Amino acid sequence: MREPALDFVIAALEKIRESSDRAPRASQTALARLRSASSVAVSLPATSNKAELLEPIRERVRVCTKCAHLACSRTQTVFGVGNPDAALMFIGEAPGMDEDKQGEPFVGRAGQLLTRILKAMNFAREDVYIANILKCRPDTPRGSFGNRAPTPTEMQTCRPYLVEQIEIIQPKVLVALGAVAVEGLLGMRGTMRELRGRWHAYNSIPLMITYHPAYLLRNQAPSEKRKVWEDMLQVLERLDQPITERQRNYFL
Ligand code: URA
Repeated sequence: MREPALDFVIAALEKIRESSDRAPRASQTALARLRSASSVAVSLPATSNKAELLEPIRERVRVCTKCAHLACSRTQTVFGVGNPDAALMFIGEAPGMDEDKQGEPFVGRAGQLLTRILKAMNFAREDVYIANILKCRPDTPRGSFGNRAPTPTEMQTCRPYLVEQIEIIQPKVLVALGAVAVEGLLGMRGTMRELRGRWHAYNSIPLMITYHPAYLLRNQAPSEKRKVWEDMLQVLERLDQPITERQRNYFL
């Protein structure tokens, strides 16, 4: 049985986590006390593993109703997919129709292109982690076709879940796909022309901004594909991944 005091502390920590960008911090002394208390009396779960740490967040997302309109319209939430120990994490904007149906990010046409980009980088989807700013598909009027971009309010509401995912995964490099993802993550608006192709940072994690694969599907010009590929070459370099001559000269 949980002590009432422990319930109080956990509720307070959850409040801090939902209202702040950073996970609550504890001093080394407090942690040492908690550890010894947990080994003696309260059996706190052993949450050393990132996959395990992500599970309670996934569950909170699964039942989330913070955006009542999206909770009503979604088929399911789309939490994230891939390797929780990944060195590389991709951030998109929101699930589309296919993702809403399958419960997995980037599985539609844009997702298939992202998978091809990963393959060209010598990665499988299972090697990286992929998540979105929004965990629900933005609703669209009945009978209408296509997806809509998330609103700033929806992104602000959902962002704390992504912040927690990043805090746990602690990737070496983040990639934000498109201006909407950048706005959701950094709260900063800009054109892709000025944002992409150079290093930014999110909480001291190097962040590369590149075009969303959906943009490449709309704009098939080889020059645009090459820009994304150059951004990915910078990512590989930052990850200390070997780059072959073939990769250097590659056009997506
Ligand atoms: N576009 C996104 O930004 N995310 C997805 O999951 C799918 C398409």
